[in-house]
Amino acid sequence: MLLPTTTYRTAAFVEAARRLGVELTVASERPSTFEGAQPAALLTLDLAAPERAAEQAAAFARRHPVAGVVGVDDDTAVVAAAIAGRLGLTGNPVAAALAARDKHLQRLELVRHGVPVPRFELHTLGEDVTEFAARLRYPCVLKPLRLSASRGVIRADDPAGFRAALQRLGRILEQPDVAGCGDWASRVLVEDFIPGPEVALEGLVVAGQLQMLALFDKPDPLDGPFFEETIYTTPSRLPDRAQAALGACARDAVAALGLREGPVHAELRWNERGPWLIELAARSVGGRCSAALRFEAGETSLEELIIRHALGMPLPSLEREHQASGVMMIPVPGAGVLREVRGLATARAVPLIEDVVITAHPGQTLLPWPEGWRYPGFIFARGETPEAVEAALRTAQRRLGFVIE
Ligand code: ADP
Repeated sequence: MLLPTTTYRTAAFVEAARRLGVELTVASERPSTFEGAQPAALLTLDLAAPERAAEQAAAFARRHPVAGVVGVDDDTAVVAAAIAGRLGLTGNPVAAALAARDKHLQRLELVRHGVPVPRFELHTLGEDVTEFAARLRYPCVLKPLRLSASRGVIRADDPAGFRAALQRLGRILEQPDVAGCGDWASRVLVEDFIPGPEVALEGLVVAGQLQMLALFDKPDPLDGPFFEETIYTTPSRLPDRAQAALGACARDAVAALGLREGPVHAELRWNERGPWLIELAARSVGGRCSAALRFEAGETSLEELIIRHALGMPLPSLEREHQASGVMMIPVPGAGVLREVRGLATARAVPLIEDVVITAHPGQTLLPWPEGWRYPGFIFARGETPEAVEAALRTAQRRLGFVIE
């Protein structure tokens, strides 16, 4: 399991492995002090260099046989593909994982295969954009090539707005965790803004076939100028025809990118012109959101499905449980240092609310979008209908009070 030190996903994947009785090796980019004591359980890999990481994994596998490999985010999905190729394990071709990670490469591949995507152009920070800004079609969206969670994604409505957005994105790409990560950090993708409701599709690719696990509506309009997410609810309330077209669009995108095995998470929009592929990632949903999904009458987690598939274990039914389910990524209430979260007990007491998880810790700096990319927490609800679930999530959120300095 490739678990970068910064991921939110550790607990869910480790718990899933434990439930399945699988022997787990956790590989991270930083050495753990316990590695010497538990040489089969902990491993340091150069996660920034996939081919080198694959060599290191192969050396490890000579001492401790490896039966499967799972990456949990965009970068480790590429490393997992390299390791799978090196060790002959279930996985994606490296080229497919690379195309899924890079928003420009992805657009090129999707266009080449006729998948509907917004019109796009690639630009370099620092170039003279006067003429370009004047001829652009507005509104447009500016975005970095490889960040995630909508970090740095900005809508612009006119040439002045475009120049301001470009400067703002330029400053984000100068942040220490981004600058120096590669050539991509000096590039900006500029796209047509696609109006219409947005959905997130969670899927598992098995032998090149996309199995749809869930389609989530995003009931709060994502019109920008920034694209912080809030509520996801499933099943989708869109008409069957729209759902089928969105599923087919994601299936075409999987084929276009050449993805063969493992989880995918896609964002799509729907309007009078049909479905649009906004982004497809070769990983499962981020943050804590996967807790909104359960399979086999609620017995099986998304992480268990992913691990089973990676190991070639028999897959149970991929049908989601019967109830409607939803998660709210709690909006960042403002910029500052988090001191306290009030109202947790009353928020948890709202009918249909299953859990309220605060992932930010006191003393942590909260940063709104587009510079920010981390939600302070997550709220989960289940109920008869997606409408009831959505209402419960909103009520619970209103009961929370963030004290920020
Ligand atoms: P990330 O990988 O950081 O999430 P995305 O490319 O998925 O970046 O963009 C984040 C969000 O921004 C999308 O989910 C969508 O709401 C919005 N967005 C991005 N591109 C467009 C576009 N061309 N038209 C409309 N909305 C967009």
